[in-house]
Amino acid sequence: MKKYDMFYKYLNLILDWNSVINLTSITDKKDIVQKHFIDSLKIFKFEPLLKMRNIIDIGTGAGFPGIPMKIANENINLTLVDSTLKKVNFLKEVTSSLKLDNCVSMHERAENICKDLEFREKYDGVVSRAVGNLSLLSEICLPLVKKGGYFIALKGPSIYDEIKYASLNIDILGGKINCVKEVVIENSEYRHNVLVIEKIKNTPTKYPRKPKLIGKNICFT
Ligand code: SAH
Repeated sequence: MKKYDMFYKYLNLILDWNSVINLTSITDKKDIVQKHFIDSLKIFKFEPLLKMRNIIDIGTGAGFPGIPMKIANENINLTLVDSTLKKVNFLKEVTSSLKLDNCVSMHERAENICKDLEFREKYDGVVSRAVGNLSLLSEICLPLVKKGGYFIALKGPSIYDEIKYASLNIDILGGKINCVKEVVIENSEYRHNVLVIEKIKNTPTKYPRKPKLIGKNICFT
């Protein structure tokens, strides 16, 4: 199937399923292309991601950014994770309709996957968009990144405040901020940032902490 046809099919599946389950508040076709597809693909502004093989998308929802990444680069071994069963059922439908190989959808919470040695520190790249603040995300994403790999988050305009608040946690979890790339979506007012964190040390086994502590400042807990 051509990439264009895959995106088109994906778009129609989103529209069909959205009338039954709540996948996205964006329902206009052009907006879905801009704010979901193109926005997701902008993650490749961090070019080393193009060469990464094993990638996991945490809190992928209707498949963002993972599915557009997989359509663009079919060599990726992709794992999609979401804690909402209906969304995971949708992802399975997308994967089979688009005939995506090496693409697994998991109904699980990220913090549980982090504790499982089959997944912990196994990924070249962990990606995530619109799941939570950076402190929380770091605690449920960095444990999955292998040493030398990267956690890449698509983030909004408050990125620098989030970095300030999360920097000690990121350090303790084994990460180091690599870069922030500003992204502009053509023909729209829409802007965001691609935040890249490199994994330079293993994550101590006590992280992630209990659910009510996840994301809190590590210093005070
Ligand atoms: N990444 C998508 C969806 C964002 S909404 C996008 O950019 O459009 C956040 C999603 O994260 C929801 O689908 C929710 O079910 C999921 N989620 C929230 N916390 C999670 C956790 N701890 N583990 C796995 N999924 C989680």
